[in-house]
Amino acid sequence: MLANYHTHTARCHHATGTEEEYVRSAIRAGLQVLGFSDHSPYFFPDGYYSPFRMRACELPDYVNTVRGLRDAYRGQIDIHVGLEVEYYPALFPRLLDFLRAYEIEYLLLGQHFPGEEINMWGSGARTEEESRLRQYCHSVMEAYQTGLFTYHAHPDMMYFVGDDKVYTKYMRQLCREAKACGIPLEINLLGVRDNRHYPTRRFWEIAAEEGCPVVLGYDAHEPEAFANTKQVAAAKALVGELGLALLETVPLRKI
Ligand SMILES: [Zn+2]
Ligand SMILES: [Zn+2]
Repeated sequence: MLANYHTHTARCHHATGTEEEYVRSAIRAGLQVLGFSDHSPYFFPDGYYSPFRMRACELPDYVNTVRGLRDAYRGQIDIHVGLEVEYYPALFPRLLDFLRAYEIEYLLLGQHFPGEEINMWGSGARTEEESRLRQYCHSVMEAYQTGLFTYHAHPDMMYFVGDDKVYTKYMRQLCREAKACGIPLEINLLGVRDNRHYPTRRFWEIAAEEGCPVVLGYDAHEPEAFANTKQVAAAKALVGELGLALLETVPLRKI
């Protein structure tokens, strides 16, 4: 792999290691581009706190730390600062205003909840309900249409175990919209490593049929993640088998 844009830091409370350890591990693994994309802060009503993301007050230090490393390691590796964000339409404009003050270079869409988070089921919760699949796909397609996301992380995290025909119908719409909006789809290497329900072959068959560009992402939650080449080989085997269009690097979309 030449580039990885999906990297977390300890600020999200479920990743470990220092930023510099991630950088050194990435260099050792031969990466030429390393993007940090920790779980974005969000401003929720009524003081609700979402436990898997950094707090807004931590963002300045996050950006400064990554930019410091970018300068320190210039010539060895290209470092970028971004965020992984859910698209919650009611809360997104305020978040965007906040982020624009900090020169965030790019956003990855990581739709862990569809549309909103409070009292909402998670996209990764197993379900047979068509209405949930529809809601997930619609919230994701709305996010694509903003034109603000550089790529979609683990698009197949939606854990629908109902009728295959229903799955195909909605996911084909999602893939077509991604293609139309120029949004690459990520084969998530953490999912490969941990044998999660994603990446799921049936999703990537649809993506291949629709000619969607794809990208690999480590979704690194510890510096050693880049040392594991087994998962890269497995993902590349899937890419080769299905004839997916793999991008080695992706252009960062300005926010
Ligand atoms: Zn995470
Ligand atoms: Zn992630």
